[in-house]
Parts: sequence; structure tokens; C-alpha cells
Amino acid sequence: MSQLPSHRPTPKNQFSFSRLKSFDQCPFKYRLRYLKGLKEAFRSIESYLGNTVHDVLEWMYEERRNGASPDETAIVERFDEGWREDWPEDLAIVRIDDGPDTYFRVGREMLKIFVSDVFDKDRSETLALEERYSTPLSDRIVFTGFADRVGRTTKGKLFVIDYKTSKRAGDSTEFSEGLQAPLYAACALEKYKEDSALAGYHYLRLGISNWHQVDQARARQLLERFKNLAEAALDTTEFPAKPGILCAWCGFNHICTFAEVPEAFSGGRKLAQENMGEFSTP
Ligand code: SF4
Repeated sequence: MSQLPSHRPTPKNQFSFSRLKSFDQCPFKYRLRYLKGLKEAFRSIESYLGNTVHDVLEWMYEERRNGASPDETAIVERFDEGWREDWPEDLAIVRIDDGPDTYFRVGREMLKIFVSDVFDKDRSETLALEERYSTPLSDRIVFTGFADRVGRTTKGKLFVIDYKTSKRAGDSTEFSEGLQAPLYAACALEKYKEDSALAGYHYLRLGISNWHQVDQARARQLLERFKNLAEAALDTTEFPAKPGILCAWCGFNHICTFAEVPEAFSGGRKLAQENMGEFSTP
């Protein structure tokens, strides 16, 4: 039996986009994380980079909302402070040939591009940052999530945007661009009493944004689709492992006998083994 630290299992009826995505990617991991409440043994530097950049973006737009106008120097300094002050012990560099400086430079560069290409020209209004949604979809399912930024364009159109630090842009499939931001837009329509909104993704490494239109009919479809997927996850009794490249970033890969972790991407598993010793399969 595993000796992994645990936190409380996620309440049975609360479904975030991440929870559903985890079920889609590997039901065995989903079971460990969401049903058994086990804590992953490491977090990847990619996720740390994403969180640090998101914190800076939130600060930038909050400052602007308060009447300040942070410039590139102040924004990069804020990133530097966040990167150095909050270095978790369980942080893993999965790609063993990389060092932390690689990711530090990527973070600075992403923000510089965002400042010059977007932030300095952005005249939209910010209505909310990290806005939490909790929408009952049935007596068994509640959709929960946080939208990075909700605002209005200069023409008054409601929008919801999600910032991505991934290397590649998504496509329109359900667990890429098809569901997450559009679902937040569906919730925003309800909250702000609007008939339509834009749901967007901004890819910080690539400097591009993709937008989707969400009206009331589309919102109902999206929420119904999410409910059906969540009910399928709730009702299943089978949790097969789906090993693949993402095993390298899975914080259970040192205890999972199905894991497929190439040596070049073994930084997380090695750190977990060093910190926690050997464990049997849960
Ligand atoms: S290591 Fe791979 S197969 Fe095992 S739980 Fe994680 S993602 Fe699933």
C-alpha cells in the first residue's frame, strides 16, 4: 500500500475542467488523484513556470485596474521576484538535459513579448481576474473553475480569456480548446446577463490568440456536454491506466507499474524516488 501523502479526495460532485481532462488522459491517475486523494510526488517546472507567469499577468491587470501602468522593467522584475521567492522543494525538471535557467529565460521572454504585443496596446476593461465559477449542472454534478481574466472589449463585448504557456497552440477538440474557455464563457453569460461572449486562449510562447464565439444556445450545449462527460466519470467502475508520454509529468510515475518514462524525461521520477523511496503499486 502506498505511503504517499494524501489530501482529502475532491468532493464527489465537484468537477473542474482539469478533473475531467485527467479522467480522459489516464483514468488510473484520475482515481489516485481525485478519488483516493493522493498527492502527486512532484510538480513539474513547466507547471511552476505557468503559475509564476499567471501570477504576474494577474498583478499586471490588477495594477492597471487600480490606475497604475507597470512597464516592461517592472513586469520582468515582478517575474524575477516570484521565480526566486517561491521555489518549492518538490519541483522537478522532467527533461533531464534542461536546467532551471532555461525556463526562467522562457518566462521572461514570454512576458516581454506579451507586454509589447498585447498589454501596451490593450484598452479592454477588466471585470474580474481569477473569477471562480460554480455552476450546478444536475443534482449530481457541479461545474467549478477559475477564468484567468474576464473583461469587455472597447466595443463592450464580454470576453473570457485563458492564458497558456504551452509550446503548442491547441485545436478544437474537447480537451484542448473546445471546452475549457467556452465553458467559462458560458458561466460568464449567466453571471453578467449577456446573450453572447468571446472565449479566448492566448498562447504566450507563440504570441497568438484564438477566439470562439459563445451564445446562449452554444452555452447550453457546452454545459450539457460537460455534464454528460462528468456523469460518465462518476458512474464508471473501471479505471484503466493509459500510459504514454505524459507519464513523465505524472507525479505517480514512481509507484505506477504501467508508467512509460523515457530516460531523457525521467527527472520527475528520479526526484520522487529520492524523496520518498520505493513504493508498491497502490
Ligand atoms: S504514470 Fe502514466 S499510466 Fe501511470 S498513472 Fe501516471 S499517467 Fe497513468
